[in-house]
Amino acid sequence: MSNKPLLPTTEALRALDQAHHLHPFTDVGAYQKSGGRIVTRGEHIYFYDSEGSKVLDGMSGLWCCNLGYSQPKIVEAIHEQLQVLPFYNNFFQCSNDMAVKMAEAMAQVTPEHLNHVFFTNSGSEANDTNIKIVHRYYQILGKPEKKHFIARNNAYHGSTVAASSLSGMTFMHDQYTGIDYVHHIQQPYYFGEGGDLTPEEFGLQAARELEKKIEELGEDKVAAFIAEPIQGAGGVIIPPDTYWPEIQRICNEHDILLISDEVICGFGRTGSWFGCQTYGFKPDLMTFAKAVTNGFQALGGVMISDKIAEVLAQGKGDFAHGMTYSGHPVACAAGLATLDILRSQHTIENMAKEIGPYFEQRWKSLEDHPIVGEARAKNMVAALELVKHKGSKERLAPNAAASIVCRDQAIKEGLLVRAVGEAMVCAPPIVCSKQDIDTIIERMFRALDYTAKQYLR
Ligand SMILES: *Cc1c(COP(=O)(O)O)cnc(C)c1O
Repeated sequence: MSNKPLLPTTEALRALDQAHHLHPFTDVGAYQKSGGRIVTRGEHIYFYDSEGSKVLDGMSGLWCCNLGYSQPKIVEAIHEQLQVLPFYNNFFQCSNDMAVKMAEAMAQVTPEHLNHVFFTNSGSEANDTNIKIVHRYYQILGKPEKKHFIARNNAYHGSTVAASSLSGMTFMHDQYTGIDYVHHIQQPYYFGEGGDLTPEEFGLQAARELEKKIEELGEDKVAAFIAEPIQGAGGVIIPPDTYWPEIQRICNEHDILLISDEVICGFGRTGSWFGCQTYGFKPDLMTFAKAVTNGFQALGGVMISDKIAEVLAQGKGDFAHGMTYSGHPVACAAGLATLDILRSQHTIENMAKEIGPYFEQRWKSLEDHPIVGEARAKNMVAALELVKHKGSKERLAPNAAASIVCRDQAIKEGLLVRAVGEAMVCAPPIVCSKQDIDTIIERMFRALDYTAKQYLR
């Protein structure tokens, strides 16, 4: 007999899960009735569930396991660090060597003018940190009334109180009172909101919504604009090429700080190290999390420009902010190992030459399917829009029901993708091979066929 403990059965696990575990972004009552899939193992780009199904993970965990699930160097780094220094904080004139090394490494891999980092445990906390840094910055400059933030409809910046205020998802705002110095403008969602404009015209128009909002609130009151280079959780909204240069111009001319939330776009997803490099803009602050440790440890943070750091250094007294685990040595060890792999193997540069363009091209071929109104992709992040008839934007079913059918069928075909409204989104590990990409496309196509049969009889 083996001395391994017997694993609980799926039914037993599911019952315990339903009895004791409240899940993020999940309907509490419905889940207590239905339960969910219980994932028990990950290997390369696949995960396995408690029933033995093997699924190609087209979402890289939750946009975080960019290098897949098998990365022994990261695991070893975590293991080693736990034996040497499992914890030490960074408060009160202290530091730990792993946080120092990780701070240096982040300064090296991010754009040249970003050389300072504040560590958090998550993207949400990092965006809260952004607000506190920006408010402190303007207080020190003697402009405390410059405190308003502008974000975008359908943005996702996390789920703490401040981060969900920055987020532009109305269903989140319906459940609590957001903070009152955050305002939202139009998103650059061409398929959904572009009307009769060309993508170029629409990109400029959507960007100029920022200028209008600044003029409405008053330049002396607006502190910063925050946005994801490509909106991820909102449905992979890829902006027209005219969008970001116009945003940069507006921020410069009106003296507004620009914050790039790179929690999804960072670490290769869009073909450069960071999304701001793909789109050629220069943020004052940059949020990171998720793929920084390949999802293996909880780590996030804010990269801070030299210009802002210089002002912060002039403030009198403590910057009153920090988490017990800010710069946790084990999380930083995982981050260092992740950056080391990306740098020494040139993972991002290689992917941007070959696999990224291949995925883009194969994903865009899904537009040939009769129920796909648009298939869009930027390197290793993609979405498609389900419609009833090609050329029209009429949807297959009310309340985005078709995308749920399509997602569930894709999982049955062995591919995890997500349904966001009427769109299907996909962000596979950047270590996929061409053959893996072909598998993704074949499975997606079969799920689309199945969905079409359900609605077009
Ligand atoms: C996931 C996400 C966040 C929040 O990060 P958490 O680690 O879940 O708090 C913030 N911004 C973006 C763009 C994200 O995708």
